[in-house]
Amino acid sequence: MELNTLDIEKIVKQVMQSVEAVETKPQCSNDGCGEGIFPTMEDAIDAAFIAQRQLLDCSMADKDRFVKAIRNQLSKKENLEKISKMAVEETGMGGYEYKLIKNKLAIDKTPGIEDLTTEAMAGDDGLTLVEYAPFGVIGAITPTTNPTETIICNSISMIAAGNSVVFSPHPRAKGVSELTIRLINRALKEAGAPDNLVVSVKEPSIENANIMMKHDKVKLLVATGGPGVVKAVLSSGKKAIGAGAGNPPVVVDETADIEKAAKDIVDGCSFDNNLPCIAEKEIIAVDQIADYLIFNMKQHGAYEVKDQAIIDQLVKLVLNEKMKIKTEFVGKSAKYILSKIGIEVDDSVKVILMETDIDHPFVQTELMMPILPLVRAKDVDTAIDMAVEVEHGNRHTAMMHSKNVDKLTRMAKLIQTTIFVKNGPSYAGIGVGGEGYTTFTIAGPTGEGLTSAKSFTRKRRCTLVGGFHIK
Ligand code: NAD
Repeated sequence: MELNTLDIEKIVKQVMQSVEAVETKPQCSNDGCGEGIFPTMEDAIDAAFIAQRQLLDCSMADKDRFVKAIRNQLSKKENLEKISKMAVEETGMGGYEYKLIKNKLAIDKTPGIEDLTTEAMAGDDGLTLVEYAPFGVIGAITPTTNPTETIICNSISMIAAGNSVVFSPHPRAKGVSELTIRLINRALKEAGAPDNLVVSVKEPSIENANIMMKHDKVKLLVATGGPGVVKAVLSSGKKAIGAGAGNPPVVVDETADIEKAAKDIVDGCSFDNNLPCIAEKEIIAVDQIADYLIFNMKQHGAYEVKDQAIIDQLVKLVLNEKMKIKTEFVGKSAKYILSKIGIEVDDSVKVILMETDIDHPFVQTELMMPILPLVRAKDVDTAIDMAVEVEHGNRHTAMMHSKNVDKLTRMAKLIQTTIFVKNGPSYAGIGVGGEGYTTFTIAGPTGEGLTSAKSFTRKRRCTLVGGFHIK
């Protein structure tokens, strides 16, 4: 076999890279580490730093191959089933069938390198390109509600954009997060990617997240979670993307297709037992159609509770004295929650529905369980104003069922949510039965919206003076 100069240069580079990696990578074979998992946060960040430098030398075709390898690895039946099952078992939240759908969605519909377009300006003075360039090492904090989906979606987007990523998973989801990271590392290794593009620590914790947030080598922070963690990254002094809490209202007016609205609301609210931050959390219905809406929701799996004493029992069951949700009920099924107050129902019951006033804690609190309060409004404008109020300025997600274009437009303008779904279930807003790609990091507070590869880039300008225009 004859080797040309280019081949030799390539081989020398590969050998040098592997020597460098061996020299700097902590050895941790006997302590459960390896495959992207490190004993300390510092080790993980150092390894990700080297990996990102090596990724700079990879072509776009290489990055495309790495992304495809992640998709293929996690799509394998045994892997998809394992992470979906383990997520439910470890966190005690959500349902296996839903996790399968959500993981597959993240695997298939998270955009890859095609997201990174180039802007060009050409004229007498030459050619200027504006490119989406990597940040470097990204520190990503992930939630317990979508542990694997967020890791899959962030890994694909961040690597496609030329970054490496250090994950700080929720401690309550550490096992399944670790497994997902290991599977991704195996896929990347087989595809010939630099080692340690996706890393984490053996024992994720708030302390480790804090080390990550302060580390000099981490250039961008991405937090997917509740208000505490979003505030923490935004106070870090670094560039940060915050994907925070929601409390999505759904408005139904008198012009809506009520039968369809009823089914869409039950389906959206009960999806993964209401864990998704985008899922319907309260209904504001125009009085004129409220009874018919309730009637139809009951045909599609809603269990209506009319007795105030039972509603009070439910409040005591799932909220503490400070009206904060009890974690043990987050992501539990309607059947399970009802059984805890002595009401036995079959699996066809998907949502617990009750009428309340607007101040009720079930309306005001982001419950993340399939308890769905309905508030009556005298007309559509009042309903829209109420929806804006209960969304609490999160600017996250809202739904509306209506055929009145003026009112749909009014609500969209006033509520200012990142996702606004019209005449469909909430999940249509992340590409299930609605157009568009998916993400599990929806950045309302910092404005990136539904994140994709380009959200994790810096815009850089390259100017060539005096040539290369042919107009
Ligand atoms: P959480 O806020 O309890 O935890 C999220 C992550 O942040 C975890 O890894 C946790 O360990 C870490 N964390 C929490 N407080 C921290 C702090 N002060 N410093 C450093 N790290 C900290 O949230 P959760 O229960 O895992 O997830 C549910 C919440 O996340 C809901 O409010 C939901 O709406 C939101 N969420 C938002 C999105 C989105 O895309 N906008 C997606 C999923 C979940």
